[in-house]
Amino acid sequence: MNRHLRVSIDLKAIKNNFNTLRKRLPSHVKIIGVVKADAYGHGAMEVSRALEDSGIDMLATAYTDEAIALREAGIRTPIIVLFDEPDPRKFLRYDLRVVLHNRKTLDTLSRILKPSSPSLKIHIKIDTGMGRLGFSPDEVVTVIKRIRELKSINTEGIMSHFSEAELGNKESARTQIEIFKKVLSEIKEELAPPLCHMANSAASVSLPEAWFSAVRPGLMLYGYLPGRLQDSELKPAMKVTTEILSIREAPPGTPVSYGGTFITKRKSLIGIISAGYADGIMRSLSNNGYVLYMGKKTPVIGRVCMDLTMIDLTDILKEVDKPDKEVTLLGYQGDEAITAKDIASWAGTIPYEVITTFGGLGKKEFLKDD
Ligand SMILES: *Cc1c(COP(=O)(O)O)cnc(C)c1O
Repeated sequence: MNRHLRVSIDLKAIKNNFNTLRKRLPSHVKIIGVVKADAYGHGAMEVSRALEDSGIDMLATAYTDEAIALREAGIRTPIIVLFDEPDPRKFLRYDLRVVLHNRKTLDTLSRILKPSSPSLKIHIKIDTGMGRLGFSPDEVVTVIKRIRELKSINTEGIMSHFSEAELGNKESARTQIEIFKKVLSEIKEELAPPLCHMANSAASVSLPEAWFSAVRPGLMLYGYLPGRLQDSELKPAMKVTTEILSIREAPPGTPVSYGGTFITKRKSLIGIISAGYADGIMRSLSNNGYVLYMGKKTPVIGRVCMDLTMIDLTDILKEVDKPDKEVTLLGYQGDEAITAKDIASWAGTIPYEVITTFGGLGKKEFLKDD
């Protein structure tokens, strides 16, 4: 791990984002906070604790081990495991919820669960158009009839997932909602009303028809919305900094970094910073991105290397003789900010990838309540 790379997580921002959503939703709508991928790189344990303190109803991880780690850290909130094949012993022991999304798992469960076993809580996943995991809408009734015969399975929820994170096309989202509603009406006879959930972050803030009895936001808890959606009340929680390793003067005509893709046009001051693509500065930011230095947006020049990146300080250092050490890769410095959405647009990716990448690489520190 690069000791110069610091990822600081503002847990107050995460609480703020949760409370912002809580205030906007009707009180009967529960919130399932998605903390998969180490809480989108923010540290699943600390984030889950902050959300639990704020009164979140349920948490969701991708895999079983992530959920067990949260239990072992003392998290008591109900946890749903979104993707993993369930090992019933573990799920019962740690009080986890299964997302049942295929017949093979149902066959396995009906073979191993005895009528006398304690009951395993499941959420049934319907594929309403995502084309990833889930039962097709026309097999749900048969599946539920089979589940009802199994005394040791308790259907706590029915869920689906939108095929577009940013819901750029509301029509396709509405089609998915209609399919989901049709399934819900078909199973009314078979099942006491379960928790119905479908909304990701985008739908949680912009599509009330998708709320049902619970929402399942991830990204917005960390302070961002996908695509063109914006919300000034959300506060990004992650800040990433590194340091200037060296500053050198270069005469006009000096090639900078691998391949000489940048050649100085004037007498320049070049800052070499101690982080590269191995630390989450995407290589596609070569000659194509910015960092913050001494409160100013500073361009990346030349190719990003594995552990180093070059920035052009010529306009910034002219007036000062005492250079700062700190370089901000993500977050605020003074009044200027670089957001995960800025980086995503420079790099041709999405904010989800920016925060999970940085979060997985740097040394983390947490800002808690004062
Ligand atoms: C990741 C995920 C979410 C959260 O999506 P965001 O766009 O981050 O809000 C919700 N549900 C499922 C099944 C997911 O995989």
